[in-house]
Amino acid sequence: MEAFSKSQFDQLHSQVSQLSIRDAFHLLWQQYPQRVTFSTSFSLEDQVITHMVAEAALPITLFTLDTGRLFPETYSVWSSTVQRFGIPIKAYYPDVALLETFVAKNGPNAFYESVENRKSCCHIRKVLPLKRALAGNAVWITGLRSEHSSARHDLPLLEWDETNQLLKYHPLLHWTAGQVKAVIDEQAIPYNPLHDKGFVSIGCAPCTRAIRPGEDFRAGRWWWEDNSKKECGLHEKQH
Ligand code: SF4
Repeated sequence: MEAFSKSQFDQLHSQVSQLSIRDAFHLLWQQYPQRVTFSTSFSLEDQVITHMVAEAALPITLFTLDTGRLFPETYSVWSSTVQRFGIPIKAYYPDVALLETFVAKNGPNAFYESVENRKSCCHIRKVLPLKRALAGNAVWITGLRSEHSSARHDLPLLEWDETNQLLKYHPLLHWTAGQVKAVIDEQAIPYNPLHDKGFVSIGCAPCTRAIRPGEDFRAGRWWWEDNSKKECGLHEKQH
């Protein structure tokens, strides 16, 4: 665990809360040089943060989790993003042996058959690669927003992630969807075209569908499951 007391954490939280996002990036970078990372899934929020990271001109590392089951459109926007911003985005992949064993035993679409299978697939394709990506870092920047789900309403801007033993910073936590889209449009930032077809929260292709007007932000993910079981393990406390 990082060697800081509660009062030090509270002070850092207070500072980050009062700073612009750009200045908060600089502060976190000063405090934890070489140990600030940002995970992108190329969501609208993540695209805005990528733009901000590029503007801040800090060597914050960017990474993504390539589960092997992403939409073709996601690979396209990934490629456009690298071209637009000229910054590397490191991909983390599932462990080959684990994946081969899982698919051999359960088949390629086992996630539809049980919550247990679905969680195992997420664990192999997302959670374990995430742990590798976060190892050695002190700050994890995410694109979570409080509007995304009831479980995210009360998130703090900066929090201690006990599971991964680092700080999580959610710079767009209090932004609205309209604010996010406005920056995308104003800056002509590339984005996933599926967003224009009713897809809101976009993950793996077999586990994501478009939603109807009025449905919950997360309704298009694992729609065949009970709402209370919709976790993928990336943001354990928040779901
Ligand atoms: S979202 Fe679906 S395909 Fe992707 S890792 Fe989870 S269960 Fe597997």
